Amino acid sequence: MLGLKSCIIDTLGFLGGQCSALYAEKPIYDIAGYPSISAEELIKNLTKQAEPFKAQYYLNQQCNSIAKKGDHWEISTSKNLIKAKTIIIAAGGGTFEVRKPPVENIANYEDISVLYHIKNKTKFKNKIVTIAGGGDSALDWAVILAKDIAKKVYIVHRRTNFRAAPKTVEEINKLTENGNIELITPYQLNGLKGKNGILNEIEVKDLEDNIKYLKSDYLLPFFGMAMNIGPLDNWNLSIINKHIEVNPASMQTNLNGIFAVGDICTYPGKLKLILTGFAESARACHSAYSYIKPNTPLHFEHSTTKGLPKNI
Ligand SMILES: Cc1cc2nc3c(=O)[nH]c(=O)nc-3n(C[C@H](O)[C@H](O)[C@H](O)COP(=O)(O)OP(=O)(O)OC[C@H]3O[C@@H](n4cnc5c(N)ncnc54)[C@H](O)[C@@H]3O)c2cc1C
Repeated sequence: MLGLKSCIIDTLGFLGGQCSALYAEKPIYDIAGYPSISAEELIKNLTKQAEPFKAQYYLNQQCNSIAKKGDHWEISTSKNLIKAKTIIIAAGGGTFEVRKPPVENIANYEDISVLYHIKNKTKFKNKIVTIAGGGDSALDWAVILAKDIAKKVYIVHRRTNFRAAPKTVEEINKLTENGNIELITPYQLNGLKGKNGILNEIEVKDLEDNIKYLKSDYLLPFFGMAMNIGPLDNWNLSIINKHIEVNPASMQTNLNGIFAVGDICTYPGKLKLILTGFAESARACHSAYSYIKPNTPLHFEHSTTKGLPKNI
């Protein structure tokens, strides 16, 4: 909207960060103007909204290092060297690192019968699905799949109580009474049996070493993500607890001309929400404009007055 050229770099091969990678099919209820919208639909809309601004996309490549060269930065990605006057870091939780269960031979089943993210829930139609974990993601998916998709859902959790929203736990209890869900608690994953990546049985064990076998088509372990900011750790940024410290009045980091927005940034009162990220991005762009064009004052106009920029 400010007439600046931009390019977007992402390690993933698609747009949308956590929304696309972790919960594409889930409805989001707190995006302004949408009573409910799936994460996938939100990203589709945002991509379309960004089209007129002709950003260049550099996907499937990680930003590894930066170097200040005169009046610009050189950004080395795993595939390109990109020159930019300024950088806005929106690296979220950093590199997506899933916490995997410590089960021997699990790698043989990954991407076939063991899935850490769900992109398309219809693949579980009439299947027996074992979900491991006791947090929000595990229980949300158990409810979605048990309602009218999967034939049966097992929830394996090492404790008898869950760390999820009370309303979801209530739904789980109802679905358990109806027989759509069977709770396997307090049990932990102990082994997988199958052939060529296709799962047949899951072995689970309790604290007294009692063993049970769950006949299953899929295992969905939901043990959360490990936050790892990856190469950004070496950029001489001020980092607090794996987050980049910014001045919320400008979104400026400790490095002049480098800004940070979204989940990766921190300041007093920070909320990790999509709508907060939108506002922080607008703030960072205004700051970036003043940094790039210190002698051209920014004439503030609403989009309703300004329309879309004509020559980008
Ligand atoms: C299950 C779940 C449900 C959620 N529900 C809601 C909700 O209902 N409402 C809400 O407001 N929020 C919700 N959130 C939080 C919301 O998704 C995040 O606040 C939002 O995605 C943050 O956006 P971001 O752009 O800052 O980071 P991300 O979405 O994490 O995107 C960061 C991107 O940076 C890339 N990246 C990282 N490091 C590098 C590098 N060195 N080089 C290149 N690329 C890099 C990553 O690949 C990633 O694509 C939810 C999150 C989860 C996990």
